[in-house]
Amino acid sequence: MLTGATTASLRSNMRGELIEASDARYNEARKVYNGMIDRRPRIIARCVDVADVIAAVNFGREHKLLIAIRGGGHNSGGLGVCDDGLVIDLSHMNYVRVDPKRRTVLVGGGALLGAVDHATHAFGLAVPSGIFSTTGVGSLTLGGGLGHLTRQCGLTIDNLLAVDVVLADGSFVIANSKEHSDLFWAVRGGGGNFGVVTSFLLKAHTIHTDYAGPMLWHLEDAAEMMRWYRSFIPKAPSALNGFFAFLTVPPGPPFPEHLHNKKMCGIVWCYTGPAKSAESIFKPIRAVKTPALDLVGPMPHPVLQSMFDALYPPGLQWYWKADFVRELSDEAIVEHIKYAAQLPTMHSTMHLYPIDGKAGRIKNSDTPWCYRDAKWAQVMVGVDPDPANKERISAWAKDYWNALHPHSAGGAYVNFMMDEGDDRIRATYGKNYDRLAKVKKRYDPTNLFRVNQNIKPAWGADARTLSKTSPQ
Ligand SMILES: Cc1cc2nc3c(=O)[nH]c(=O)nc-3n(C[C@H](O)[C@H](O)[C@H](O)COP(=O)(O)OP(=O)(O)OC[C@H]3O[C@@H](n4cnc5c(N)ncnc54)[C@H](O)[C@@H]3O)c2cc1C
Repeated sequence: MLTGATTASLRSNMRGELIEASDARYNEARKVYNGMIDRRPRIIARCVDVADVIAAVNFGREHKLLIAIRGGGHNSGGLGVCDDGLVIDLSHMNYVRVDPKRRTVLVGGGALLGAVDHATHAFGLAVPSGIFSTTGVGSLTLGGGLGHLTRQCGLTIDNLLAVDVVLADGSFVIANSKEHSDLFWAVRGGGGNFGVVTSFLLKAHTIHTDYAGPMLWHLEDAAEMMRWYRSFIPKAPSALNGFFAFLTVPPGPPFPEHLHNKKMCGIVWCYTGPAKSAESIFKPIRAVKTPALDLVGPMPHPVLQSMFDALYPPGLQWYWKADFVRELSDEAIVEHIKYAAQLPTMHSTMHLYPIDGKAGRIKNSDTPWCYRDAKWAQVMVGVDPDPANKERISAWAKDYWNALHPHSAGGAYVNFMMDEGDDRIRATYGKNYDRLAKVKKRYDPTNLFRVNQNIKPAWGADARTLSKTSPQ
């Protein structure tokens, strides 16, 4: 039982804020990005430094509280918040420090992608991450990190150099390729299972202005464009990324009125090669079929990174279903077109993110992210502002996924999954699951951190051997 006196002990150990149900800020503080999620934690510990995180972890463990870790609060399944437990909220640990000489970036565990893009752009640098600037670095990185630079620079985890972590027993470790290398392997795709990551050290790349943006085609041309895309992307230069989408054109600028509310297909391109080659790279693409709308041109990298933010403010209803895809067959394309024609709302969409190029050249066992040999990460997302449409958008995403799943590789990108059960998590980590479970056993043997795509601590001979070796 938590009393005012016990929570006061945590309050006195923290420099950040402690927010309880009686607090006027409580309802705002418990909100996450997905408006479908409505959870009521017992306490929200808004940490400002590592000492706060240690105090919160110790308090949660000692009082047997369920613990959720909140980075940017964007997680599809709402894993940044829990009912009746403790939320370790890192949103105020949002610093970004760029070292332009070494081309590295130190990022607080609760920073948003936009903060990283803003800070690095001033030095003509960029870190590969996701396509919305409002997403958190925390869970995006720990789950993988797909985006406009995947083919050029790899996933975000492929650019992770080190992490600072507060473990379940309240101790603090630095993990990198030399220290706690097992933990460093596990956090590059294994999510928030192993501890609270208080900072990320990331490698940055020399990228300032992209030749980028969306090209749209009519839905009648979608089958032809998808077939062209599936053979074009694997052969395209690594400096070119392009994800395929089905969408409904928003009724407002910069979209021309005759396209408003039309269901279309599109590719969002990002070319980071030499500016003088950009037009010649895009000439054959534009020649395949003249796009109905072509917004591709030079733009500062952070402009591309935040291009879709305004369309998707926090609080919309989101329902996600995803898979990895090795081959985009003709049969799969037929199903795609069928469900694209039934997009249930203006915000609902389907994205196919390429995972070849630099990301595909890394071995499946090098990080927990074990579908490097797949070609695409596919996601169907039903989205709408109106909670009354929750069932409709969810049903469309489920039906679409059911039709496409037989054509998929098995697992899905963890950051595109909602609560889908243990079998799905095992399918996603494949041969890497057992190794992750051993690392989990070593660093979080009681599964204190379980509000995540949960990896159960291993048990058996190997795991016991590992657990005897206390963290260095
Ligand atoms: C609009 C939108 C666009 C997206 N676009 C992309 C994209 O382009 N590319 C992509 O790869 N993904 C994308 N995603 C998916 C995104 O990666 C996940 O939703 C991710 O979980 C968001 O991270 P967050 O920190 O904001 O989430 P949160 O809700 O804060 O994440 C909570 C979960 O992450 C863990 N966690 C978060 N931070 C930490 C930390 N510092 N230490 C330990 N555990 C932590 C927690 O244990 C918990 O399980 C997008 C999501 C949305 C909603």
